[in-house]
Amino acid sequence: MTEIETTPDLLDAPAAEAARPAATLPERPLMELLDVSKEFSVRSDGKRVQLSAVNGVSLQVREGRTLGIVGESGCGKSTLARIIVGLHQATSGEMIFDNKQISTTKRRPREVVEQMQMVFQDPSSALNPRATIAESVAFPLQVQGRSSKEIAARVKQVIADVGLPANYATSYPHQLSGGQRQRVNIARALALQPRLVVLDEAVSALDKSIQAQVLNLLTDLQREYQLTYVFISHDLNVVEYISDDVAVMYLGQVVERGSAASLYEKPLHPYTQLLLSSIPSMDPADSTRDQPLDDANNKEIPSPINPPSGCRFRTRCPHAMAICAEEAPRPSNQADDHVVACHLYPGSSSTSLPEQDLRSLTAPAL
Ligand code: SF4
Repeated sequence: MTEIETTPDLLDAPAAEAARPAATLPERPLMELLDVSKEFSVRSDGKRVQLSAVNGVSLQVREGRTLGIVGESGCGKSTLARIIVGLHQATSGEMIFDNKQISTTKRRPREVVEQMQMVFQDPSSALNPRATIAESVAFPLQVQGRSSKEIAARVKQVIADVGLPANYATSYPHQLSGGQRQRVNIARALALQPRLVVLDEAVSALDKSIQAQVLNLLTDLQREYQLTYVFISHDLNVVEYISDDVAVMYLGQVVERGSAASLYEKPLHPYTQLLLSSIPSMDPADSTRDQPLDDANNKEIPSPINPPSGCRFRTRCPHAMAICAEEAPRPSNQADDHVVACHLYPGSSSTSLPEQDLRSLTAPAL
């Protein structure tokens, strides 16, 4: 079968903004993480040691909105995604979901599992090659003990909702294109009518043209189903396009969070500034934009087994000060829920720094 999508839409941020849920939706958080940490026991140099994959993460997702999570490979964003949907049990920390407290360290009750679903990066390996599309979409409904009649109706509905023709229900994954397979994965995630969907690099494996169509589908489904998304990606352009709020992770910690508009216009944390400055310029004559992150990459990249004292970014930070090695910066709200954890800004240190050490809240030039 051939790909059914036609002319791709460009990633147009204003258009996406217009398509997002109306501002009349409640602004309350649907899901909140409180001081969540995850350590893995791993072997290093013949000894068992603890790897700190996620460390003290607190953040929230507003109902009907999209929280983007960005960071380099190994920053802990996928581990965090798995903790949110209950595939990993955290070492410590709590979650509030729909005003109810849920442990992140124990197995979830069935009614909670239903409300949080996940779409994975690789559309092929996420599907059973021996199951038809209908069987794959029906699987979570069967696990949750739904009746045959309900399963048949729901499978038919959700396959149509993701834009696949009804006759694809009897096809096998190898008969579909990558974009179509990811539509099936989205359909399977929606089968149980969840309220929160975690999309872990869900468009990263797709061609650029198909990416745009799947992103537009996700935006449409969010409005139709009143979904709340956690969208995890290393692609900063895609995150800006789809997210209302963004959190930046570095070595297992959230170093900055705020509205997408505020964070992309005025990044505060040196790491966020480096990430954003590494977005390739559309101007072929401009070869300067990827320089700062390259410079930072040439410095020692710390291991999550033995992270640096104080600020975990200090070994790569162009603005590191003495206090950065001694004290971990606390998250501090700089303006309009734009929160940063960096000693350069007031409120992140236990003691007041001399005025000359505090930088202006406008992004420092790198
Ligand atoms: Fe750089 Fe210090 Fe801020 Fe960390 S706390 S990002 S090392 S200035």
